[in-house]
Order: sequence, then structure tokens, then C-alpha cells
Amino acid sequence: MSQSIFSWRTGSCEVFMLTEHQGPGNPDILLDADHALVQKYIPGGNFISGVNVFLVREGKRIVLFDTGFGRQIFDSMKTLGIEREEVSAVLITHLHGDHFMGLERDGKALFPAADVLLSEKERDSGISAPPGGPGKSAAAVLAPYGGRVKTFTPGTLTKAEPLLPGIGAIAAYGHTAGHTVYLIESAGEKLLITGDMIHAGAIQFPAPDISVSFDTDPGAARVSRREILAWAAAGGIPLGGMHLAYPALGTVRAENGGYHFTPAG
Ligand SMILES: [Zn+2]
Repeated sequence: MSQSIFSWRTGSCEVFMLTEHQGPGNPDILLDADHALVQKYIPGGNFISGVNVFLVREGKRIVLFDTGFGRQIFDSMKTLGIEREEVSAVLITHLHGDHFMGLERDGKALFPAADVLLSEKERDSGISAPPGGPGKSAAAVLAPYGGRVKTFTPGTLTKAEPLLPGIGAIAAYGHTAGHTVYLIESAGEKLLITGDMIHAGAIQFPAPDISVSFDTDPGAARVSRREILAWAAAGGIPLGGMHLAYPALGTVRAENGGYHFTPAG
């Protein structure tokens, strides 16, 4: 399979990481990262980041987590033999362009049979010109889905809000007002889809106090990041991330006050 798709399994769910882009990240986005730390973890400021989405297939049910910009993912879905019309739900982590712009084109829903789920707080945050978007409001992108846009209040790490069988929502505010991460559970196995908890894995896993300039509330983002990483490390729960380098999925363990990320595969 090409380097644009990574396959994983969580219980009876097939999980596919579909990447739209992999390339050098911009170290200027890092907040409060002192020079020594940067030199230690990303010498020369070099790190790789991605734009990724996750797709879960379980029998006939197909659920998508974010849409990216809606470019490469459609080719990757074709490679997997999955049609847009088969997607029954699109779960959105937050309303930045690189996460939901693939929902719509020319006023039409690109996932015509899907419900679109996002946190009420995110929908109501009133993002009129999403960063990374084509100058269209979030409301305009969601409009073709009408009543199939469904909102919820995310739960916590100890009690995820159940949305669909085996899929729950957890609040991870800070990156945006209503940023949500999603827990997939099947046959005793788990996977947490962490959205934009981390942009620069090479430095933010070992130094999780570093937030980025895209974080609306860098302090709250730091708290969410710390809580999720501690929880995932303690439980051995794999993480997937929308801006992690390929394969964008792996496990963490606590190390020197931060975390060591071991990519899957
Ligand atoms: Zn993003």
C-alpha cells in the first residue's frame, strides 16, 4: 500500500490513516520553545508534519474522522474501494480548514449519506473565516448537510460521551474552543483520535508544555495535551493524530517529564 495510507486494527474495526500531505513543519509556530530544547529535539528546526484523516470500517459501517482539505483522501478512499456515498458519519475534531473543508464542494455535500458530528461548543464558536480555508465560513461548508449536522457535548477521559456504537467524544479544549478528540473501542481495544493535540510530534511529545501559535488558548491546550498523554501512557492506549508524521499512529510512554512516542508498524 502506498505511503499515503496506513492500516491498523482496533478490535473488529479496520482503521486507515489517510494522509493528504507530509512535509517539513514550520518551527516558528512553536511557542515558548527555548533554543536548547529546539536543538535537542529538532536540530535545525527540522521536523515532519502531516495533514491526516482517519477512516474506520467495521463491516458495512464507514466513519470518517475529519476530512482534511478534501484532496488526496478521495484518491486514497478509491484505493481502498470505498465510495464517498458509503460514509455514514463524519466526526469533526474542530473547524479549521485542514479538518473539514473536504465536506463540501460548490455548495454540495461530498458525503451525501453522512451525518456530520461536532461539538456544540465548536459549532457555536462562530468561526467565520476558518484558518486554512478558502475564505468560506464554517456555516457555509456545513449548510448542505442541513439537519444532518448533529452537535453534542463531549465527555471526559474517564467517561466519553457515546456518539455511535464503539465511538465516544472527549473534550480537549484549547486548540480551539470546542476541540474534540474521539475514542474508538472495540473488543477490548482502544484508539484515541487526537485531532490537533500535537502539531510537531518530534518536540511536543518529549516537551508537551510547548503549544503552537494555532492554539486559540495555548494554556488550555497545554493542560489538555498533558492530561491526554498521561492517560494514554498509563493505559497503553494508541494515539492517532491529524498532524503527526506518517504513520501518524503509535503509543506513548512517560520519559523524563515528557513522553516518548513509538510509531506503529
Ligand atoms: Zn490542523
